[in-house]
Amino acid sequence: MAKNIQAIRGMNDYLPGETAIWQRIESTLKNVLGSYGYSEIRLPIVEQTPLFKRAIGEVTDVVEKEMYTFDDRNGDSLTLRPEGTAGCVRAGIEHGLLYNQEQRLWYVGPMFRYERPQKGRYRQFHQLGVEVFGLQGPDIDAELIMLTARWWRELGIASHVALELNSIGSLEARATYRDALVAFLEQHKDKLDEDCLRRMYTNPLRVLDTKNQDIQTLLNDAPKLGDYLDDESREHFAGLCAFLDDAGIAYTVNQRLVRGLDYYNRTVFEWVTTSLGAQGTVCAGGRYDGLVEQLGGRATPAVGFAMGLERLVLLVQAVNPEFKAESVVDIYLVASGANTQSAAMQLGEQVRDALPGVRLMMNHGGGNFKKQFARADKWGARVALVLGESEIADGNVVVKDLRSGEQSTLTQDSVAAHLRALLG
Ligand code: ATP
Ligand code: MG
Repeated sequence: MAKNIQAIRGMNDYLPGETAIWQRIESTLKNVLGSYGYSEIRLPIVEQTPLFKRAIGEVTDVVEKEMYTFDDRNGDSLTLRPEGTAGCVRAGIEHGLLYNQEQRLWYVGPMFRYERPQKGRYRQFHQLGVEVFGLQGPDIDAELIMLTARWWRELGIASHVALELNSIGSLEARATYRDALVAFLEQHKDKLDEDCLRRMYTNPLRVLDTKNQDIQTLLNDAPKLGDYLDDESREHFAGLCAFLDDAGIAYTVNQRLVRGLDYYNRTVFEWVTTSLGAQGTVCAGGRYDGLVEQLGGRATPAVGFAMGLERLVLLVQAVNPEFKAESVVDIYLVASGANTQSAAMQLGEQVRDALPGVRLMMNHGGGNFKKQFARADKWGARVALVLGESEIADGNVVVKDLRSGEQSTLTQDSVAAHLRALLG
């Protein structure tokens, strides 16, 4: 017999048992975004390959080894998006959303990177990204961080995430720093590993976030990016820190924080946790004032971040198990006896009309009362409505509170009002 076809490694199915908590988390995130006046933008999953090469940078992990790139039937090189910022900027330029305007945007959806799958790291994963265009002051950087802090409070994980912050300055300041760093690295070539040696000339800042402990120790003596900042970036960063201090948001300045994508300048930040093992960054972003112009638009200040939803869900489940998905069903409609099904289905429609938002599941497939009540329990229903032949004959229905066990017989016309009171 032919072997069953399985999903692609690192690309997960999200089964009904899990989607409920995803939905609850996503709706919490979206409500908070709404409370700051941010709007959703929906973008394609596939873009032209040069977009990512230009935006993210040729010498980055993502572009060098993580992209899913293939030729379209007409020979164009296309790539499954590895992140959302490039597509968002492309769309903003294409539709004239950016020039001389403010935009506060968010998107959510799957991203694709060819990585070694492990806990918190997958080949198809989901990000919620936020991008703000047209605002250059540190107040908007601070608002983004305050918004994320509100998420953590609402999800009950605030004490399990910590904010790391840095400024990587202007392009020019970074170029000066880069020279100083390369000079330092050249003196210690013998202590660098293969990866760092390769990065040393192509993308030396990435050496700073090496995971190699020995090199980390060596880097303690390296020139500090903070000493090379241009005055405006320094001022911007001081402004951001002041806003965060006023908002009571704690942070650590991490001089080694540089981020993996080339387009950032000035502010960079990450929310990290120690509760997830190796994959500790939940949310990461920063300012990218040069990207719009780099992709062909008019110079537009921009700042944003992306959050990994798998890591967020894992974290909520690990540290706040109380934040569960509610059951899927409020009311289970039990019907037994000859010719009861159609009348029961009509009653179901009537209740759904009267009580919008209430989740009523109709029993299908028959079964005696006992079996049907077992199904009501399985779905976590709070109330069962019961229709038998005699109820139908009298225009009645039995309402059973499945927690207290109390039950009463009501007319079908009055049942909606009763249910409204019962379910609160
Ligand atoms: P890492 O250092 O963990 O590889 P990154 O710097 O590549 O992260 P970003 O490109 O900044 O990640 O993406 C933002 C967020 O998206 C990350 O902080 C993380 O939560 C999530 N993320 C990135 N790659 C993956 C992945 N392969 N699987 C699951 N989540 C991911
Ligand atoms: Mg990565």
